[in-house]
Amino acid sequence: MAITPLMPVYPRSPVRPVRGEGVYLYGEGGEKYLDFASGIAVNLLGHGHPHLTKAIQDQAATLVHVSNLYGSPQGEAFARRLVENSFADTVFFTNSGAEAVECAIKTARRYHHHHGRPEKNVLITFGNAFHGRTMATISATDQPKLRDGFAPLLPGFTVVPFDDLAAAEAAVDEHSAGFLVEPVQGEGGIRPASAAFMQGLRRICDERDLMLVLDEVQCGVARTGRLYAYEHYDIEPDILASAKGIGGGFPMGACLATEKAAAGMVIGTHGSTYGGNPLAMAAGQAVFDVILAPGFLDHVTRMGERLRGALEQMIPNHDHLFESVRGLGLMLGVKMKTDSRAFVTYLREHGLLTVAAGDNVMRVLPPLILEEAHVAEFIERLSDAARRYEVPQAA
Ligand SMILES: *Cc1c(COP(=O)(O)O)cnc(C)c1O
Repeated sequence: MAITPLMPVYPRSPVRPVRGEGVYLYGEGGEKYLDFASGIAVNLLGHGHPHLTKAIQDQAATLVHVSNLYGSPQGEAFARRLVENSFADTVFFTNSGAEAVECAIKTARRYHHHHGRPEKNVLITFGNAFHGRTMATISATDQPKLRDGFAPLLPGFTVVPFDDLAAAEAAVDEHSAGFLVEPVQGEGGIRPASAAFMQGLRRICDERDLMLVLDEVQCGVARTGRLYAYEHYDIEPDILASAKGIGGGFPMGACLATEKAAAGMVIGTHGSTYGGNPLAMAAGQAVFDVILAPGFLDHVTRMGERLRGALEQMIPNHDHLFESVRGLGLMLGVKMKTDSRAFVTYLREHGLLTVAAGDNVMRVLPPLILEEAHVAEFIERLSDAARRYEVPQAA
């Protein structure tokens, strides 16, 4: 047999972590890595954070799972916390980001169905978006690498260029249900939408009674220095998908909605066996205890500015490799002049973990609990690696 027991869908790197502590990971042979990838924007509190660890341990010893057939004091409490701290009036808990986006898509379609307009079932989405790997979420993108071989895809999505308000407005017709957009594209290459674009989408939705659906799976939950990234744009969505950081590494997600947007999501319309189970809720609460503590979001903003400033300062010394820095808070991307994937691999071999993204970008996504000393260590080691890096010859 040639196939591996783990289905070989990932090009797995030789980094094989078995233990973590704060911003560091340790491999099977004791190798130490500075983790500025955070499990792809997941481990907000780093590795082995005592408060998160204890919350999971205590809840595991008390009650792990029951069923959504029963009342959920744990789910009610965490949902209330999300509602109190965001635009939302109601929350559905999922186990992943793609499921949170699925729930968001269903909520948007169901809104129009509820109001007797079932023909309004098309979401306008954006070029180079990433919304997950389920059938609906790959149908919502235009990326061949996500879609090839999985036809027939789901109808109900129209893709237009990202950050192009005129194109978005021109795509609206009598079948439109709304827009589905990442305020800061993650996989697409750390591209923050402009304020004019986000505010324009909000205006179109208000004028035409459409749903503004945000995919904040990567940019949400304090990553950009605000609890949710829409706060940077002075707008509020109707529906929002959250995941990744929300459980600090515990698998969970959430679909947030206003009361108006959730009008169609009545008993029996949606469900999940695990979604919102007591263990997941304990993890989410522990993450929120930390990120909502006074000063935490300011810390993220300050560390983001420091890291960004340091990255920008080093560009002139390595201007054959680096072009520019972009992003918000601690969701940063370095646009490269050479293949970012090859450079990320090189860094990995030298103990620095970052993540490649589309558009030749190297994503820098450290745990939000990092300190200035970690920024300094990262920059020093990155400069050193950049100095020694030999750009691979193009094939
Ligand atoms: C990671 C991601 C998803 C998918 O989340 P999964 O937990 O992998 O299903 C969806 N949208 C965005 C913006 C993401 O970054």
